[in-house]
Parts: sequence; C-alpha cells; structure tokens
Amino acid sequence: MTETVTNWAGNITYAAKELHRPHSLDALGALVADSATVRVLGSGHSFNEIAEPGADGVLLSLGALPPEIDVDTAARKVRVGGGVRYAELARYVHAQGLALPNMASLPHISVAGSVATGTHGSGVGNGPLASVVREVEIVTADGSTVVIGRGDERFGGAVTSLGALGVVTALTLDLETSFEVEQHVFTEFPLAGLDFATFETVMESAYSVSLFTDWRAPGFRQVWLKRRTDQPLPGFPWAAPATEKMHPVPGMPAVNCTEQFGVPGPWHERLPHFRAEFVPSSGAELQSEYLLPRRYAVDAMYAIDGIRETVASVLQTCEVRTVAADEQWLSPAYGRDTVALHFTWIEDTAAVLPVVRRLEAALDGFEARPHWGKVFTAPAEALRGRYPRLGDFRTLARDLDPSGKFANAFVREALGA
Ligand SMILES: Cc1cc2nc3c(=O)[nH]c(=O)nc-3n(C[C@H](O)[C@H](O)[C@H](O)COP(=O)(O)OP(=O)(O)OC[C@H]3O[C@@H](n4cnc5c(N)ncnc54)[C@H](O)[C@@H]3O)c2cc1C
Repeated sequence: MTETVTNWAGNITYAAKELHRPHSLDALGALVADSATVRVLGSGHSFNEIAEPGADGVLLSLGALPPEIDVDTAARKVRVGGGVRYAELARYVHAQGLALPNMASLPHISVAGSVATGTHGSGVGNGPLASVVREVEIVTADGSTVVIGRGDERFGGAVTSLGALGVVTALTLDLETSFEVEQHVFTEFPLAGLDFATFETVMESAYSVSLFTDWRAPGFRQVWLKRRTDQPLPGFPWAAPATEKMHPVPGMPAVNCTEQFGVPGPWHERLPHFRAEFVPSSGAELQSEYLLPRRYAVDAMYAIDGIRETVASVLQTCEVRTVAADEQWLSPAYGRDTVALHFTWIEDTAAVLPVVRRLEAALDGFEARPHWGKVFTAPAEALRGRYPRLGDFRTLARDLDPSGKFANAFVREALGA
C-alpha cells in the first residue's frame, strides 16, 4: 500500500510509503524489532524533516493505540499515552481539579512530540513543556521497553530527545491544583527607547506574556498578558488596552482565539492562544523560532528592527516570549533563561528561506538555538557548539540504539554522528 503522508503545514511530504498504525503495544514492539529504520510521527506539527524516516524506513503513528490518560489525584501526576494530544489531556486533567502549569500556543499537538522538540509557552518562571515530565517509557530498538525517570543519570537526555532514542509510548507528568487565568490584550507597545530592565518588567508583569508584531512598523502591535487569578494584576502603563478581540495574525478572525478582555476561565482555555475546536494560527504558514539567552533580548529585537522590511515581506506575525532555563540536554532552553523569537511566515518556502538566512545572520553573536521543530538554515556544525551536553546525548543514543535505528538524516546532522 502506498499513501501520501504530509505534516500539518503541508510543506513536507514524507518519503516513507506508508504510515504504520499499530493497534497494540505488542504489535508496535514487533514492528520496531523487525524494522531497520523507524521514526514516529506525532501530530505532525513540525515544519521540517525531523520525523522523516526516509523512503525505506518505517513511519509510525501511535494514533490507533488506546488513548491512555491515567490521573493519580493524590500524587498529583498523570500517565499519558504516547499519542495523546494536549487538548484531550488538559480537559481530562481539569475535570479532576488538576492542571498543567503551562501550554504552547495551541492544544492540538501531541505531548510526546512536543516535549521531544523542546516545545514551550511563555512566562519568566515557566520552563518548556518537558519540565513537568517525571518519567518516560521508551520502546527501544529490540522492541523492549526502557523506563527512565527523574533521578536516573540518563534523564537529561530522555525527554527532549528528537525521537532519537526510541518510541515514547507513555510519559508521566507532574500536575498542580487547577487554576484560573484571565487574558488581557494591549496594543502598540513601542520598541524605541526600550531597555532591558523595562523588557524584563513587562515580561514579568503576568504569569505568561507574549509580544506580537508584523515588523511593518517599529514596535509591537499587541501584548498578551495571561494572569493567574491567584496572582496580583499590576498596572500595565506601557500600552493601551485593546478595544476589540484580537488574533495575533492581522486579518484572521479573533473567534479562533481563547477568550480575552479579562474574562476568567480554566487554565487550559486561556494559556493557549488558539481554541482547540478551531484551526490554530493562520493555517497556511511556515514557522521559525530562535531561543537566545534572555540578556540578549533587546539587542536582538533591535537587530531584527534593522532588517524590518526584509522580515516583514514574508511575515504573518512575530511573537516574543520568555522561557525559564531547563535541564534537558537538547532543549533550546537548556541551562539558560531564554527569550524566544518566533516567526509565522507565509507558506512560500522559496520566498521564506532567503529571509530566514538573513534573519539568522542578523542574530549572529546572540548564541541562538533554533526550535527543533521549525524551519532553520544554520549549519548543524555551528549549532552543536551551543549544546554543552551534546556528547552525553550521543553516548546515550548509542547505548539505547547501537545500530542507529531511530536516527534519520536530520538527527545525524544535528548530533554530528
Ligand atoms: C500552529 C502551530 C503552533 C505552534 N506553536 C508552538 C508553540 O507555541 N511553542 C512551541 O515551542 N512550538 C510550537 N509549535 C511547534 C510544535 O510544538 C512542535 O513542532 C512539536 O514538536 C509538535 O508536536 P507533534 O506531536 O506535532 O510533533 P511531530 O512534528 O509529529 O514530531 C516532532 C518530533 O517528535 C518525534 N516524536 C513524536 N512523537 C513521538 C513518540 N511518541 N516517540 C518518539 N518520538 C516522537 C518525531 O519523530 C519528531 O522527531 C507550533 C506548531 C504549529 C503548527
């Protein structure tokens, strides 16, 4: 059987001839043991060839496995199957009176695929989504399962693994007591004169803060504050309150977005920007993102302002977020409090790539680590030096997967292996 499988954005058509969907863990283990090359496709929301197994490789979906979500209310943790998406997980966890501390801009993505690439939301105190993972269950090359938990010396490589260690069949996540969030949107926050101290104050002014701009003019068109109702609401003197509901992409309908105007609601209906029932973002797009040490935030924004017209020519929206340092060796936020500079481009690869190159040149010197799931052109050789524990990850991958069954061209290039 031959089927055409693409990613969510449609810019990648996988060379693999079929998407295998085993119905049981036994069938999954047997398929893995009998195959030479295997890659898992999560919800397919990455914009590059990170999931590509190659024409002769096996592309595997966990979508036909029973969608396990097992909450332990007393221990405040949840064990979640490798194919489950945040939308269904969040609804279930909330119904038990519990919460995840943070979410990405959309709930449509799979948990395993998200933490594999270092996916994050915003908030000076919020690490990437992988920060709440306490244990990961991986089907390795011979079809057997390895469980790696916090406290295991291999744990730093086990979660944000680019899918290179095996098939993640389940993850156990920490939960906290459910909380409510209000979303407040402000407009026209100037870049001119912005210094680092003010940037920090703005980004600290709520639990999660995002700045948006189309770079058609200097400064930010929108500021989104997500305030936990159990935390204070400071004044926001830097921009004016929005007078209508807004979408981060100019011209897109705000009905796709989570509730604004300070209406309190459950964490999982406010922390993402986009509602689970609607197409997130613009739906016709490519994305890039660069994670830098936060101290460079303002200098990097001025550097982008210097090539504003070039960037704006293929841009739908740019989002600036913060991410707290984490300890996953391959996480773009590893070991450093981070500013994340995100770009939603038009869906024209040929037009976008030269701008991505120009942008990466403008960010040269800021130690940028590209998001593993998005479009970038920086040579892997330069990037490897930005991951001090890369060698430890390579050793771990060799131990768990000596034949390189779960490596693909993307991973080999990234690891230099
Ligand atoms: C509209 C949109 C908005 C986005 N917003 C954000 C955002 O706010 N923040 C952010 O950081 N990113 C964001 N992203 C990027 C997205 O979070 C990442 O690309 C993420 O990896 C998507 O998860 P996925 O399940 O779709 O992964 P896929 O693209 O399917 O896979 C990603 C990687 O994970 C591996 N993988 C997946 N499942 C498993 C498994 N069970 N076992 C082993 N390996 C596995 C794959 O092999 C691949 O290497 C956004 C993307 C889109 C399209």
